[in-house]
Amino acid sequence: MNTLTLETMIHSYDYFLFDCDGTLWSGDLLLPDADQLVNSLTSAGKFVLFVSNNATVNTDRIIQKASHFGMTIPPEQFISSGHVLVDVLQKRNLLSSISSPSRALVFGEQALVSLLESNGLQTCGSPGPDPKDDLFRNSRTPPDDVNIVIAGFDSQLTYSRIARAQRVLQSPSVLYIVTNTDPAIPAEGSSQPGAGIVVAAISTAAEREPDIICGKPSPHMFQYVINRIRSIDQNAANNSEQSIKNKMLFIGDRLDTDIEFGIKNGFNTLLVLTGVTSSETAQLSPMKPTYTLSTFSELFT
Ligand SMILES: [Mg+2]
Repeated sequence: MNTLTLETMIHSYDYFLFDCDGTLWSGDLLLPDADQLVNSLTSAGKFVLFVSNNATVNTDRIIQKASHFGMTIPPEQFISSGHVLVDVLQKRNLLSSISSPSRALVFGEQALVSLLESNGLQTCGSPGPDPKDDLFRNSRTPPDDVNIVIAGFDSQLTYSRIARAQRVLQSPSVLYIVTNTDPAIPAEGSSQPGAGIVVAAISTAAEREPDIICGKPSPHMFQYVINRIRSIDQNAANNSEQSIKNKMLFIGDRLDTDIEFGIKNGFNTLLVLTGVTSSETAQLSPMKPTYTLSTFSELFT
């Protein structure tokens, strides 16, 4: 394992990508020296991007939260799996199409529903509970008239809602797209079930896997990140993808999202053990980050 200092980071990399939950904060707690690291990198003129699989909060709330913790996040420097999802639907002409309007059955919280609807998608089902779940799960009525099923973290998940989606997904032409499959999300020193349990329940019932997964470690998220860096950073606009990746460091707390994101897409990673990954789990895992820190405080002692 490579040892890491703040000086080495600044010398070796230009693009610093941060996961949020478990990396910068855990629930309402700022994690040790996360603010100092972000501010040191920004002061050194480095490009900082925040990349979260969490589609349950909107950009404004993330900016507010970061600001409360003493970090400034410009809106264009925050990306969630929800943004990638909208981009994928847009590229497939599934938003705002007048000739063949799309309608989606959604498993998600208000922030995801608002994001989808503000981008022109008709939605139904969420945020729950939805009294129509029982109607549409019943085989005596036709299933929902939708052409997309969208799944993310949904705290109102019920058996009826899964049965409703199962009927819709019997049609192979219905697109099944999910924000992310994280099994758990960190919550103030502990963890709670994540979007992955929603996706697993639907996939098991429907006997099909998602057509598209938007969040880390997927290539959809990677391409979205590269495009965003190029659209903001003048220097990156003319650089090859490979040269951007050579100068990119992804910093996160999950092996199977953050670290795998780097391994699959070819850039270096820093695992911080302040979220869902323990030191024992990290040592036993075949997925090896470029660097590991117990907390960011190690960079400032
Ligand atoms: Mg995380």
